[in-house]
Amino acid sequence: MAKRIVVVGSSNTDMILQMAHIPRPGETILGGEFSMAAGGKGANQAVGAARAGGQVTFVARVGDDVFGEQAIKGFVADGINVDHVVHDKQAASGVALIFVAADGENSIGVASGANGRLSPQDVAKAKEAIVSADALVMQLETPLETVQAAAQIASAAGVRVILNPAPAQPLADDLLKHVSILTPNESEAELLTGVKVEDEGSAAEAARVLLSKGIETVLITLGPKGAFVASAKSNELVPGFQVKAVDTTAAGDVFNGAVAVSLAEGQPLADAVRFANAAAALSVTRLGAQPSAPKRAEIEAFLAGHK
Ligand code: ADP
Repeated sequence: MAKRIVVVGSSNTDMILQMAHIPRPGETILGGEFSMAAGGKGANQAVGAARAGGQVTFVARVGDDVFGEQAIKGFVADGINVDHVVHDKQAASGVALIFVAADGENSIGVASGANGRLSPQDVAKAKEAIVSADALVMQLETPLETVQAAAQIASAAGVRVILNPAPAQPLADDLLKHVSILTPNESEAELLTGVKVEDEGSAAEAARVLLSKGIETVLITLGPKGAFVASAKSNELVPGFQVKAVDTTAAGDVFNGAVAVSLAEGQPLADAVRFANAAAALSVTRLGAQPSAPKRAEIEAFLAGHK
């Protein structure tokens, strides 16, 4: 039986313009190439978890517009339960406008829209799903009070709370005490601890600071290097997989979705992180956020080929 994962978080539509360079204020450039892809950290993690084999319920808000409709169609196509995706009549769906220059530099503006209105009440309505879940997964693109409310409901019911602290911002101990697994990347770990994370040693040091705040498990993702795993019992680097990187957008999101599923299935920590490294490595070989998340069979085939 597939494990139940509830994801509370954001949904955006990414509109990407690839251009020779990023337009300066007042400048108009012709000749770019346009593409659109479903994104938003919450939605990416929900899709990542569903494709990795989880039975996912997504708690989110979209606007009453074509972008929201399209996003929901995508969730349904991935078998995600959308009973708690609220249609907000007062706000637009979240949109990210992304310029990508030929040298890879980017410039991004995000209008959070409906994501900024995901409320503790929305989460309270999803209480039944949260308390019967095998894991709750969250990020920080929706209001902190909403993240806090969901974390409290889950931890009171003994449901494991996985928090991906992205985009980086300082977090109150009152939130962290409900978190079982914290999954910062290098820069987020630095913001939360003051330790500059660049390698295994500095990752271990940052993880120690976070463990001392009472978090059970810390997984610091280190890009192509993999992830550093720290808990009372473990302290090790689980190496990443060497692949040809095409687009690293959503690598962290795919990692989080996959690790949640694997841990919910009862895999030991290091094995779950290896599974998540594989899923994320596959995702960086493909363009786009949600389009790049691999299916369970692909992850397993990849792992079988990298023993
Ligand atoms: P974020 O995308 O949140 O910044 P990271 O860059 O740390 O997070 O990437 C998350 C995970 O994705 C890593 O732990 C690793 O498993 C995988 N990953 C990222 N970049 C690469 C890469 N170039 N090659 C292989 N795996 C990668």
